[in-house]
Amino acid sequence: MRILLLFTVLVAIVHGFTPGRGSCVSKNMGSGLASKYFSNGEVQTVYGLVGQKGAIYMTCKNGKLICHEEDGILDKTEEPLVNCQKASAKRRLGLTLDPAKIKLWPEGVLCYKVETEFKPKIQKLMKEGNAHLESSGIRVLSIDECKKADDKDKICGGCTDYLAIRNDKKGCFAAVGYQANGGQSFNVEDGCFKVGFGRYVHEMLHSLGIYHEHAHPNKTSIILRDELKVAENNYLPKTEAVYTKYDFVSLMHYSSNAGVCIPKKKYGDVKFCTIDKDELDGCVIPKRKHCDKKESKKLGQRKALSKQDVNTIKALYGCKDTGKEATIHKLRAEQVKAKKKTTKSSKKKTKKHKKKKTKTKKAKKKSEDD
Ligand SMILES: [Zn+2]
Repeated sequence: MRILLLFTVLVAIVHGFTPGRGSCVSKNMGSGLASKYFSNGEVQTVYGLVGQKGAIYMTCKNGKLICHEEDGILDKTEEPLVNCQKASAKRRLGLTLDPAKIKLWPEGVLCYKVETEFKPKIQKLMKEGNAHLESSGIRVLSIDECKKADDKDKICGGCTDYLAIRNDKKGCFAAVGYQANGGQSFNVEDGCFKVGFGRYVHEMLHSLGIYHEHAHPNKTSIILRDELKVAENNYLPKTEAVYTKYDFVSLMHYSSNAGVCIPKKKYGDVKFCTIDKDELDGCVIPKRKHCDKKESKKLGQRKALSKQDVNTIKALYGCKDTGKEATIHKLRAEQVKAKKKTTKSSKKKTKKHKKKKTKTKKAKKKSEDD
């Protein structure tokens, strides 16, 4: 990797390549990133995994290299700044994060405590949002309800762990996954309820351990790096994840107004860059002109959980590892096992009802399910 990066920079120099306006070159920023060229808006993870608390990202903003530390909270406009040199020192010391661990709420029960005052009409929307989430099989309990529950010792750390629902900060954001550490970050200002309970439920899904849909490894939407509305960590591809089929109508997908869009059909063969790549990686940096305006309007719905959102919740919470330190690999193995079962039974059905279907068509369906 290091050799390749060095090579690309050398090639750029030999060919008289001059970094574009607003681009950056990192120097001595740690072993893997020596003399790395960054185009404006490009982001690299220099330490840890995307979305994991403590991970460090380096980005080029208007010709300046800056580093952010992941605080494990999604949808925030800014992540805390850190000194890039210190970040690379941390890296050199070999301090590594435990790979790909997430925590799920024990027994699929999410507890909350409303800690600040909310208007009655917002309280009503929160209740409706909770009921909507419960339709996916998750139980949503206030701390008082938790204490009265028969299984109170097994859930929410014996009713001591909960979403600390507040509205005293700007924006709608939440910590990802079960933190098992008392009240965990969950902020929903009044504006989060402008279009009903959808944005509130979006944050609830982060609390359950679900990331953004536009970070899906198989996504077809593209990220417009010049138009990001919140911190970069919300747009980085999440390759190390348990995931179900990409779903552009997911409640977890950002809208076209938040720097994400669906490209026009004529760009079907174009390889667009994710925000951690640039032209030197052999891709095209997405711009607004690439977007299909009409199709992109389908993105970012905040009405209700999509069918696939419900499947994702079920995939995560249907497994046996809830409440434990489940590793992504373990969860994925369970998912694959469950999928094999479903594919087998659906194949049987197909054979019975549609004998004429060719093997190729079946194979195609299988790959689409992946
Ligand atoms: Zn979000």
